[in-house]
Amino acid sequence: PSALREIMIQAPNVRWDDVGGLDEAQMRLKEGVELPLRSPQSFRQMGIRPAKGFLLFGPPGTGKTLLAKAVAREAEANFVATKSSDLLSKWYGESEQQVSRLFERARQVAPTVIFIDEIDSLAPVRGGGLGEPAVTERVVNTLLAEMDGLEDMQGVVVMAATNRPNLLDPALLRPGRFDELVYVPVPDAKARRKILGIHTKKMPLADDVDLDELADKTERFTGADLEDLTRRAGLIALRQSLTASTVTKENFAMALQEVRPSVTAEAEREY
Ligand code: ATP
Repeated sequence: PSALREIMIQAPNVRWDDVGGLDEAQMRLKEGVELPLRSPQSFRQMGIRPAKGFLLFGPPGTGKTLLAKAVAREAEANFVATKSSDLLSKWYGESEQQVSRLFERARQVAPTVIFIDEIDSLAPVRGGGLGEPAVTERVVNTLLAEMDGLEDMQGVVVMAATNRPNLLDPALLRPGRFDELVYVPVPDAKARRKILGIHTKKMPLADDVDLDELADKTERFTGADLEDLTRRAGLIALRQSLTASTVTKENFAMALQEVRPSVTAEAEREY
């Protein structure tokens, strides 16, 4: 029985406008990923090679996957996403094969952004890895070989994400590999305000809803937490009356009782 998984090409529907408060990360990805995918000839003209691998790191729910989708969409590139756990097969040789197929598919449909989530699971050391050390090591080696083999301007960029950067195999971070590190932080109040704006864009808000105030009251909430908050406020409004026409300040106050920040201050300090 083969565990080789189907490789799905996606065309994500996320725009830069859907990403809130990650201006610096966004800027670096525009320059480092979008630009070379969109106009490789400009890089050629300048005689510089674009980076091949970008590592997004930061707490869960802060928008790493969202950023990767947005950059693919804005570059008009295809998006191929996988999790490290999907790459690890217990069948001999199959993990490496899966990695190679991923790159082959990506090249076929270039320009392509390859996104590898939970890349820390490929760490063979310190017990952080998912698979057997020998398997993860072979997968990492195949991944590195595939990345080394990507020629400049071939239109394939690799992005990976991790919540646990300190568990990464250092071999992944050497020059020419994941040599661009992009921190994706927990949002501050200004960023939370933007994220709340994004997730309430289609919501009929009552006049008494004050998003600035809400942003101030949601310290340490991630983008995912804020999305959850707005969704719950909407549900509470519906629960009170199916004919409710707006979501009110009180609905948000009740939702706030239900949602806690998913990242502790202590966990955040580890990045
Ligand atoms: P994980 O490490 O758990 O995979 P992640 O950092 O990849 O998390 P996402 O999957 O990108 O997080 O975020 C989950 C959802 O939270 C997004 O689909 C989006 O709706 C919302 N979200 C997170 N961050 C932001 C943000 N900066 N702006 C707008 N929405 C956000």
